Amino acid sequence: MSDAQGKDGTGPGVTDEFSTGGSTLGDGVSPQNSASHPQAGADAVSRETEAPFPVRTAADFAQYGTSLAEDETPLAKAAEHSILARMDASQRPPSPRPESTRIFVVANQKGGVGKTTSTVNIAAALTQLGQRVLVIDLDPQGNASTALSIDHYQGTPGTYELLVEGTPLADVVVPAPEVAGLDVVPATIDLAGAEIELVSVVAREQRLQKALRAHPRVGDARTAGEDRWDYVFIDCPPSLGLLTVNALVACSEVMIPIQAEYYALEGLSQLLKTIDMVRAALNPSLAVSTILVTMFDARTRLASGVAEEVKSHFGDQVLKTYIPRSVRVSEAPSYGQTVMTYDPGSPGALSYLEAAREVASKGVNV
Ligand code: ADP
Ligand code: MG
Repeated sequence: MSDAQGKDGTGPGVTDEFSTGGSTLGDGVSPQNSASHPQAGADAVSRETEAPFPVRTAADFAQYGTSLAEDETPLAKAAEHSILARMDASQRPPSPRPESTRIFVVANQKGGVGKTTSTVNIAAALTQLGQRVLVIDLDPQGNASTALSIDHYQGTPGTYELLVEGTPLADVVVPAPEVAGLDVVPATIDLAGAEIELVSVVAREQRLQKALRAHPRVGDARTAGEDRWDYVFIDCPPSLGLLTVNALVACSEVMIPIQAEYYALEGLSQLLKTIDMVRAALNPSLAVSTILVTMFDARTRLASGVAEEVKSHFGDQVLKTYIPRSVRVSEAPSYGQTVMTYDPGSPGALSYLEAAREVASKGVNV
């Protein structure tokens, strides 16, 4: 861990020194770049266009640190970042596979904080690091299905059939056409009724857990073989109903995306209470392993302040990589793509790649 990062993560006074858009984490634009483009911070589009490979310099790494390998010098990190940014995704060095399938729930009962965006992009980034990944869309809106270019018109077999009708997982999984190594269970609008329909179903909280446990690709090398999924990500709706509870019972790790905005932590206590209840009654191994700061804008004191507050609440669970606010990230879904394929060299894609490396390096079954 570099010095600057080691002190407090974002580094004090970062926004003071580089208020025109200098990066702390994940932004990928060097302070020098931003300083020579006074408008850069004001317009994310032009900034991204001007810096097609927003590679951080050794000076950036020395000052702010990063989540890249911690024992490297700033120069080595800068070189690695440069290579990663320019490298075709398929040539990126793989991360070690976990010993058994790690099942993540991506939850926050607030809407619009980046749950779906983080689910699809971290999932896609992990495939670029050689992992086999399954995304389960548990939101009736089906946004994750859309972003991954998966049909989810009404009647398409998906999470509704899995949960309510007991259809086996194998019958509702489809490969993502744009991302090799990624499989998806789509969600249709039918799922909107599931919250109510599930109430009268046997073992209503354990439906997803049961479906996952029964699938031959979930498990460790001995039980599930080399073709096992390394990661499962479950994208939750913005509520704490039976769908989210099913996800919390089925998983071992919770990832909470937190938008670096006002009221970021408001309402989180409700989610944490629900997690405690599920842990006590239904899933003793449940842990909040990962907090991801999203839509981070290094130009504002507010974002840095929120990130600090999040760190003081959650400590080491907070990923060192913050995801910057980026137009490329938000426009990728309208092309049925993740930002990882839509614009792999953009700051958003590189940040999600770094976040994925952090997730992978945090070990097995935290
Ligand atoms: P949730 O799933 O929590 O409701 P989404 O992932 O759908 O949140 O994100 C909400 C909105 O914010 C979407 O329009 C998305 O494109 C946008 N968004 C998410 N992350 C970013 C980002 N890093 N930069 C810019 N826009 C983003
Ligand atoms: Mg969503």
